[in-house]
Amino acid sequence: MNLMQILEKLSIPRPGHSEALEKTTQFLKELLTSWNIPYSVQQFPIRYHYHFLLGISILVLSLLFAFFIYSRKPIAALVMVIAVVGLLYSETEVHYPIVSRLIDKPTENIVVNFEAEKPSRELIFAAHYDSKTDVWDHIQRGYIQKLFPLFLGICVLLCLWAFFANRIEVLGRSPVSFIAGGITICYVIYAGFVFSWLGGYIFLSEQSHSPGAIDNGAGVVVLTALAKEIKEGKVDTGDSNVVILLSSAEETGLQGAHHYIRQRLKEKQEASDPKPSLVNLELLGQNGNLYYEKRSFSGFLSSFPSDPDLIDRVDSVWKKMTGVPATAEEGGVSDAFVFLKAGIPSVTIGHTGLPGLGFGGFHCPDDNMDRVNPENLSLGLELLKNYIESYNQE
Ligand SMILES: [Zn+2]
Repeated sequence: MNLMQILEKLSIPRPGHSEALEKTTQFLKELLTSWNIPYSVQQFPIRYHYHFLLGISILVLSLLFAFFIYSRKPIAALVMVIAVVGLLYSETEVHYPIVSRLIDKPTENIVVNFEAEKPSRELIFAAHYDSKTDVWDHIQRGYIQKLFPLFLGICVLLCLWAFFANRIEVLGRSPVSFIAGGITICYVIYAGFVFSWLGGYIFLSEQSHSPGAIDNGAGVVVLTALAKEIKEGKVDTGDSNVVILLSSAEETGLQGAHHYIRQRLKEKQEASDPKPSLVNLELLGQNGNLYYEKRSFSGFLSSFPSDPDLIDRVDSVWKKMTGVPATAEEGGVSDAFVFLKAGIPSVTIGHTGLPGLGFGGFHCPDDNMDRVNPENLSLGLELLKNYIESYNQE
């Protein structure tokens, strides 16, 4: 089996709103079938313009905020700020769709299960198969994201100014109101950047679409290869149940992982059930050392620490293979967030991309086959096999 050939076929732009996403689902299902690997699918509606709808709503609410500050209506302005936070909280934290529910279509998670006779644990491995194209890459959007609390604070200060400017004459006079106006314009510009980050993809031409080779085609290919090797008896899974989750809709608000977890919670849980844990693959198969994420983020407001025992295990398996410890990275938005939130120990791993673009150059055409390091692709597969077998030595 040539991992690079499979990855070549997978590496086409396949964002949530594209037809290519359905074709990719089909391709993966046919690949598994051709290897005689049974799988199940979880169908759910993908709210595929999630980010655009969120972005445009934030922009409109921010323009209204600016208008109310200009009109010195502090209560109405504060309501707009609360609406932005409430919208983000609802859509990104508790996953209750408000505006994103306007547009959807069906998509599928693909799940492969290998069950042990008397399972002591459940080892879940996940990688998302959708891709994304954005105006800003992972690093650039990080700057926009980090400024969010600051701008939220500025909004509250502007509301306070508008409130007191109506009552204390000196605050309402020109120099102070010029400053307040200037700050309000800065906020609107910032809201424009937030929109470009979330919804700007809609204006990008075909040529600027990301093939998603490393984010996250390579991880998906490694997991299909892992399924094949387990199926062929080349991995001693011991007393571990192994679940391989090829999730959809990660790039549109971790919707696939949310659906997977929701389905799990619907099933009856017994205290004697094997305890689950997740190793999530992101950016695996580019240059560089193996990295693990210290935390996993929702996107805006919250984050959870990765599980320290899983980090130790991955790190020691990698060190045994290569002699080098894994690199600790701060972390980003990934499916692991949803698992951690549900109380399932998780860690996200991948390759650092150095030498090269590192964590930059994703969600754009630079995420192509030239970026793939075939040796790291094979090492990634080897790592997962050794990781599974490491539980047999206990
Ligand atoms: Zn990704």
